[in-house]
Amino acid sequence: MKKVIVIIILIILIVFFVLENHSVTKEIDTKIFINNGQIKDQMEDEIVIENNKKEIDDWKLVLVNFENPLPENFEPELTNIDKNRQFDSRAVDSLLQMLEDMKKQGYKNIWPQSTYRSVARQEELFSEKVKMYMNSGKTKEEAEKLTLQKINKPGTSEHNLGLAVDFNNVDYKFEKTKEYNWLIENADNYGFILRYTREKKDITKVDYEPWHWRYVGEENAKEMNELDMCLEEYVIYKDYNKNI
Ligand SMILES: [Zn+2]
Repeated sequence: MKKVIVIIILIILIVFFVLENHSVTKEIDTKIFINNGQIKDQMEDEIVIENNKKEIDDWKLVLVNFENPLPENFEPELTNIDKNRQFDSRAVDSLLQMLEDMKKQGYKNIWPQSTYRSVARQEELFSEKVKMYMNSGKTKEEAEKLTLQKINKPGTSEHNLGLAVDFNNVDYKFEKTKEYNWLIENADNYGFILRYTREKKDITKVDYEPWHWRYVGEENAKEMNELDMCLEEYVIYKDYNKNI
């Protein structure tokens, strides 16, 4: 009988020991996992901080796209280029100089059709369209989805930034004009780049737009063309080189 009791006690001790060890292993695993999580969070925080710094550092390279919307209250300082159109005050002279030089050189069939649009105005247009779809029986979700096919989400258009210009009739015929060819050859001297090319569609997520030109400053524009980079690529490239 005594033997049986000793064996039972031994078994209990062994089971207890195994369980205890098991839970220690589990604890170590959990700790490693949590540490990894923290490191990852920390890295992400640093990347976000870097990006914010970049935006403050170089206003010419502010990236606005489907992933990077501008805040709702974003308002750049603007200068009128005519009765209805405005452009960022810091870049307006480059735009006007470029158009003047084009005309002087005989490239006269060029005009800025669409320049700055406020985020607030776009917000209005967006809500109006959503309401219209909802009035015709769609759910809010469906209505927003349909609206997104027609109108950029407020704050995600470069026109909200005041640094983008659409030329002439905003159509693909522009690509066939001598004015377009002049821009391809010379716009970087004035700090402008063709923002949405055919080749970079996978990165920009925007179809080719021969009419849409973005101001990034002369130095950046030349370097981007040399390196054959779109703005999404160039911003990462600049950030990377800054940290070396
Ligand atoms: Zn445009």
